[in-house]
Amino acid sequence: MMFISDVLVIGGGIAGIGAAARISPEASVTVLEGMNAFGYHATGRSAAIFIRNYGNKTLRALNIASEPLLLEPEGISDSSLLSPRGEILVATESELDDLKRYLEGSSGIEALSADQAVELVPILRREKIAAAAYEPQAQDIDVDRLLQGFARIIKHNKGQIVTNAAAQTIARKNGVWRVETPAGTFEAKILINAAGAWADEVAAMAEVRKVGLVPMRRSAALLPPPDDHDIMKWPLFASASEQWYAKPEGGKLMVSPADEDPVDPHDAFVDDMVLAEGLDRYEQSVTVPVTRVDKSWAGLRSFVKDRTPVAGFAADTEGFIWLAGQGGYGIQTAPALSALVADICLGRTPRLSQETLEALNPARLAI
Ligand SMILES: Cc1cc2nc3c(=O)[nH]c(=O)nc-3n(C[C@H](O)[C@H](O)[C@H](O)COP(=O)(O)OP(=O)(O)OC[C@H]3O[C@@H](n4cnc5c(N)ncnc54)[C@H](O)[C@@H]3O)c2cc1C
Repeated sequence: MMFISDVLVIGGGIAGIGAAARISPEASVTVLEGMNAFGYHATGRSAAIFIRNYGNKTLRALNIASEPLLLEPEGISDSSLLSPRGEILVATESELDDLKRYLEGSSGIEALSADQAVELVPILRREKIAAAAYEPQAQDIDVDRLLQGFARIIKHNKGQIVTNAAAQTIARKNGVWRVETPAGTFEAKILINAAGAWADEVAAMAEVRKVGLVPMRRSAALLPPPDDHDIMKWPLFASASEQWYAKPEGGKLMVSPADEDPVDPHDAFVDDMVLAEGLDRYEQSVTVPVTRVDKSWAGLRSFVKDRTPVAGFAADTEGFIWLAGQGGYGIQTAPALSALVADICLGRTPRLSQETLEALNPARLAI
């Protein structure tokens, strides 16, 4: 069967579904997802946190541009997708420079004494804290509500999300992309590459120059809550040099070793040794031992060399839009990046600053 639309999106994670939702009021759009459900890979495995000061200058601009939609998700949900959490960064003596670097260019962060940090998270080891900082506006994101809301917009506008539709071949002829998948053949004039960790593989299939994407594995574990503590109101707490972080999650404590191991794109799973070492680093910073892991998982955070997302038309091929390299920020930046890609795709003037657009432009990665 042959299906024709104005725009094809490869990848049904938050990036592809978000971009398709924003395009769908103005153009016919089809999302091709290789798995049997959308949101299965990185999007379904995140820590679901919004931290305005997380990431470099470009990411901070995207975080700020995304916040209004997360707070008032018109057309997606009746209530905010963000809920209060807060974040504490704790620095040991050897992490003081890391904390200083993080605070540079940050806003809305206050210094905390070790006593204040322990008051907020009573299991922190007071004697290890040389300095601490608190970002009260860090918030939990309801990722599922965001993803499902974007998907509903696509369906409402008669767009399609086709699952079990892995792009197997991609060719461009007479200004039209043709993508062969097990679910049929799809054609469109514009192709958006939102294939997460696989985005360079998709580019290679389409004979578009790669951007040098490196998928990095990040693991997480759910631990039972420490006895005699009501953890639900605790903020996310993390080592200032990202050696580990922890946050309450559905009545348990999610702890991540904050690992970043380069891997090939695949259905990521936990490396037991990496998790054990990470839990050990966490354990050294708290007063409660890790006695049990109830569940663990891993996902891929994919970066290019400057750790800034890649969003915009490919410099070397017409009708090919990149939306990749969101690293550890792809959920919280999805509103701004979706709007940007829709603007570019539909020929509208993007709402982001020229400096941000240039920082995101795939052309910067040309060899
Ligand atoms: C442990 C962990 C914690 C994180 N915490 C946060 C956080 O707190 N806040 C935050 O903002 N971000 C966080 N992130 C990052 C965030 O999850 C990602 O940046 C984001 O999900 C990337 O979305 P995506 O749509 O690009 O990728 P994905 O969700 O991986 O989607 C890409 C999709 O493309 C599909 N695909 C690939 N190849 C093909 C093909 N050939 N044909 C068809 N489909 C294809 C895949 O099946 C996949 O569904 C975290 C990530 C991890 C792993």
